[in-house]
Amino acid sequence: MAAPRLEIDLAKLTANARRTLALYGARGISVTAVTKGVCGSPKVVEALVAGGVRSLADAHVSNIRRMRRSGIAADFMLIRSPMPSEVRRVIRWADVSVNTELPAIRMLSDEAVRQGKMHRVILMVELGDLREGILPHDVEPAAAEVVGLPGIELAGVGTNLACLGDVVPDEASMGILSEIAGRLQRRHGLELEFVSGGNSANYRWFVSTPDLGLINHLRIGESMVLGRDTVTGQPIPGLHTDAFTLVAEVIEVKTKPVCSRDDRLLTVSRSHTCRLHQGGMRRALLALGRQDVDCASIRPRAGGTIAGATSDHLVLNATGEQL
Ligand SMILES: *Cc1c(COP(=O)(O)O)cnc(C)c1O
Repeated sequence: MAAPRLEIDLAKLTANARRTLALYGARGISVTAVTKGVCGSPKVVEALVAGGVRSLADAHVSNIRRMRRSGIAADFMLIRSPMPSEVRRVIRWADVSVNTELPAIRMLSDEAVRQGKMHRVILMVELGDLREGILPHDVEPAAAEVVGLPGIELAGVGTNLACLGDVVPDEASMGILSEIAGRLQRRHGLELEFVSGGNSANYRWFVSTPDLGLINHLRIGESMVLGRDTVTGQPIPGLHTDAFTLVAEVIEVKTKPVCSRDDRLLTVSRSHTCRLHQGGMRRALLALGRQDVDCASIRPRAGGTIAGATSDHLVLNATGEQL
């Protein structure tokens, strides 16, 4: 089998999906599984669907199309605001999209009418991440226009934190989103399908707050597939953290001298054995590098610690390890 390769335990993903839905569902929060981390890979996504997931989201229309074409039955959400050039594809493949720009929503409306479809829109609200979002005081006028657009249904409001910036979801930010949602519901006499509080980073808020307010939805990617709270890096109880295994091959194992930069060339070239005896370091070289993976976010399961990585090599400190 070729290496490097990613081995995926689908049964563990199914279990993670089921437990994530149960965790949030127990308090009335529905979960959309975010598939961008697996590029909408149908086999992987089917494992999530087997765990009960009925709503899928991706940032790329191409991934949504890939899932739909493979026959996966779900409600599909686009969680990056549509590019003007992809409006036709958004209406064709996605049931729901997040949006922050009225001109884009007008384009979606025109295209939905043309395709004879009803497209649901979630207005994203800026609450401190400074990535996507309508400023809170601009939401009401935007919503007022959206409810009047043909082919478009105002399906909800949402926010996204802890992605670009370091603002973590808390009772204050979730309270503001709830307030905005409540006001819209009263003013327009509608019940929002989505009051979408955020992503995996909402875990701490969820387990610690006594009051969820009107938040009824989260978009969960990383914590479902990797089993960890993305804010603290800690495992989430009951979830598997080892569904994904990156397999790479060892291409060199040698004991190398440990010495200062100035000494290194001399030491190595003269086989300065005393230094080796004083504490040589066993190093294993893997055929894997920064072109393959973000080496800062993997940990060796076979033992040892990562000493460093270059574009095509990863070096493990393997002193005392059976490598
Ligand atoms: C990526 C993304 C998510 C999912 O984030 P995770 O940290 O993987 O849970 C949710 N919402 C939006 C808008 C995103 O871009």
